[in-house]
Amino acid sequence: MPDHDVLIVGAGPVGLLLACLLTQNGLRVAVCERRADADTRTRAIGIHRPGLDALDAAGVGAAVRREALRLVGGEVRSRGRTLASLAFAPDRPVMILPQTRTDALLRARLAARAPEALRRGWTVQDVRDDGDVVRVSVGTPDGPHVLTAAVVVAADGVRSRLREDLGLGWRRRGGRATYAMIDVADPEPGDRAVLHCEPAGLVETFPLPGSRRRWVARQGAEVRLDTPQAFREAVETRTGIRLDLTDQGDPTVFVAAQHIAPRVARGRVILLGDAAHEISPIGGQGMNLGWTDAVHLAAELRSALPGRMPDLTRYEQRTRRATRVVQRRSSFYMSMGAPAGIGTVVPRELVIRAMGSRPVRRWSAGIITMRGI
Ligand SMILES: Cc1cc2nc3c(=O)[nH]c(=O)nc-3n(C[C@H](O)[C@H](O)[C@H](O)COP(=O)(O)OP(=O)(O)OC[C@H]3O[C@@H](n4cnc5c(N)ncnc54)[C@H](O)[C@@H]3O)c2cc1C
Repeated sequence: MPDHDVLIVGAGPVGLLLACLLTQNGLRVAVCERRADADTRTRAIGIHRPGLDALDAAGVGAAVRREALRLVGGEVRSRGRTLASLAFAPDRPVMILPQTRTDALLRARLAARAPEALRRGWTVQDVRDDGDVVRVSVGTPDGPHVLTAAVVVAADGVRSRLREDLGLGWRRRGGRATYAMIDVADPEPGDRAVLHCEPAGLVETFPLPGSRRRWVARQGAEVRLDTPQAFREAVETRTGIRLDLTDQGDPTVFVAAQHIAPRVARGRVILLGDAAHEISPIGGQGMNLGWTDAVHLAAELRSALPGRMPDLTRYEQRTRRATRVVQRRSSFYMSMGAPAGIGTVVPRELVIRAMGSRPVRRWSAGIITMRGI
């Protein structure tokens, strides 16, 4: 009998959520995380309806709602005019919580359910599928270990080494651009997002809990936005808004790209979350998609383990379909904020106006809040 029913590689938000779901049903779960400390990088903030449902299933929805800010809607602007104004339906809220806090709440939930499950500072180096069991070689602070599990879930992020080792492939999908991002104190806290789809490129801004605000700007080929001064000048030139970035650190620059793994499982090793798909952060749906995958995977694992090998056909089909939908939407959002000449800007403004018009507004808000995923 293997040491564990499921061994999860990676304690990001998706691996942690899967662990919470599985331990609730009494499965024996280990989560190996190479970092000894928490990940402090500024990443996801937006939690949509499907993500909230997943968090509820894992028993952390209430804690997330208590800490998060509820975004009630948003505006899309261009060249000084508001083109669309959307409100999110009460049953499809967008909750805003920095990923560091969401991760911490998931870790606390897992620690309460299975105090020994999370092994920090444990790096998975190799997996070997022996047919009836998977052997996992792990580097730990006390030296190398070998663990066994009925199933291994690789939730080891977008640069997944296991995906590469297993030869599962990584196909590029549409949408790629560079952005800079900074979280700052907000003198006028609000509950709406504002997207400026300007000819010189996107500037978007989201309120954060604790009277803070995130600003994101698309970086063009010619100017880098990696200093507070360059970032402030770009925002002011594009929108007329003067940001006070005194005493701020440098903005974080990131490349938004999209990929999909054509296969998400080989034998008893299964990809999950960013390891299975990279979604552009513009639109903010990668973590949420990973959580919905985790809910579906948990159902398959629960129905088969510990006795049988899970059938992963439905999980694979659903993940592929949902990934394609979310990537198409993200690619569209990116195109709406791409730098463009007037010949593109004018029709683009018409599309945005149409999306904000009365007959279509609810449908548009549904797309933004991950309806159908
Ligand atoms: C700027 C930015 C903004 C974003 N905003 C949003 C948003 O608003 N909403 C949204 O839904 N998504 C958003 N995302 C995407 C979101 O951050 C990711 O989708 C999410 O972090 C994926 O979670 P994960 O658990 O799959 O992977 P990760 O969070 O990458 O976690 C993987 C974990 O695996 C560990 N690991 C890797 N290799 C090993 C190994 N060999 N052994 C042990 N451990 C290992 C890593 O240390 C890491 O902790 C954003 C991303 C960025 C960059």
